[in-house]
Amino acid sequence: MKACIIVIGDEILSGRTLDTNSNFIAKKLDLTGVSVTEISTISDNPDSIVTKLKEAFASDTNFIITTGGLGPTKDDKTKQTLAEFLSDQLVINQPALDYITQLYCTNGRTMNDLTRKQALVPSHSEVIINRYGTAPILWTKKSNKILINLPGVPYETQAMFEEFIIPKIKKEFNLPFIVRRSVIVVDYLESELATTLTDWENNLPDFVSLSYLPSGARIELRLSAKGTDKKLLEETITKEIKKLSQILHEKLISTTSTNIIEIIADFFSKNNLTLSIAESITGGNISHKITSLAGSSVYYKGGITAYSSLIKESVLKIPEPFIHTHKVVSEEVAKEMAIRCAKLFNSDVAISTTGVAGPSSDEFNDPVGLAYIGLYVHGNTYVKKYYYPHVTRDEMITRITNKALEFIYFEMIENK
Ligand code: AMP
Ligand code: MG
Repeated sequence: MKACIIVIGDEILSGRTLDTNSNFIAKKLDLTGVSVTEISTISDNPDSIVTKLKEAFASDTNFIITTGGLGPTKDDKTKQTLAEFLSDQLVINQPALDYITQLYCTNGRTMNDLTRKQALVPSHSEVIINRYGTAPILWTKKSNKILINLPGVPYETQAMFEEFIIPKIKKEFNLPFIVRRSVIVVDYLESELATTLTDWENNLPDFVSLSYLPSGARIELRLSAKGTDKKLLEETITKEIKKLSQILHEKLISTTSTNIIEIIADFFSKNNLTLSIAESITGGNISHKITSLAGSSVYYKGGITAYSSLIKESVLKIPEPFIHTHKVVSEEVAKEMAIRCAKLFNSDVAISTTGVAGPSSDEFNDPVGLAYIGLYVHGNTYVKKYYYPHVTRDEMITRITNKALEFIYFEMIENK
């Protein structure tokens, strides 16, 4: 089955509000087995709404979903326009009015006309009471299609869509099963990976689709299988992932979790290991990523953002002549930062970063885009050099953060 999403709102078109509803709705529909064939954003203008609705009703889509414009104020014109489009009229829906009254007339408030107008709905539409707000949701059958009108407020719309609309769609329509799994691949450009996987990809069964989702230096390969036999879908996906790992070997870093932080956290916790971090170029970003996963305190002792040479000297205790001799962005300093960090935090493992994020080079004239990552593991040190001369400052920080996490992963988990 197919759906189109129509986002209504001048505030979205002007860029003042970021449309998060369509993204949420599309993801939920996709997981339910409904293909979203179009997402469009239009103004609150009645002509635009009618034009778009006509176009949607003329297409082969099964569900037409709108968000926004259901409010009672003058700028929200969806409901009136909708009633005219459906050749219907707006009437007060008593259950909706009762619900709004109960919700609104607390804390000594009295009902006003504008709020009462929230209960006005086209007379032939089914009303779904909005448990998270006052604007009712409308479900209308017309010309073999279902028109669903949702409000704009993201938490109302998204919660209602997940809790009431998706179950209603599932109940009323016989939808296929969807089985999805992702694997993470590193050290490939997207085009290189696609070339390597050409034969495998060409031999995928018809009911399996593949997406390449690059992010920084990693690529998520997402396999989706759609059909009526759930067991067959699951077995097929498992078989295809096995084939992938035979082609990609160590470049395929995870087949269970798409989140490298979870993989690292799991490994460190299971092996009773501790980690600390000394960050220069990444400015605390690795520490931020590690601590964004709940429970990281089990293995993560802490980190230092040793951004200036002075802090590398005074806190990490790297002698000034050492930094001067080798330069701050060097293999030696990266290693020394990791060693001293492990000592400072008394951790089993420490990772360090030093580099030039740009836009201009450092005091030693090192080129923008050069970085070293040091890793200390129980008395052994390792270092890796990276050079990304043509990326922005933000992208450089993201890449070195990812590379540092991958360094830990490869050195400690994959190669052991
Ligand atoms: P409305 O239902 O159009 O009155 O919108 C109510 C509130 O939700 C306003 O603050 C909008 O900016 C916000 N909103 C409307 N549509 C969206 C959307 N697609 N994504 C995120 N926020 C939205
Ligand atoms: Mg609006």
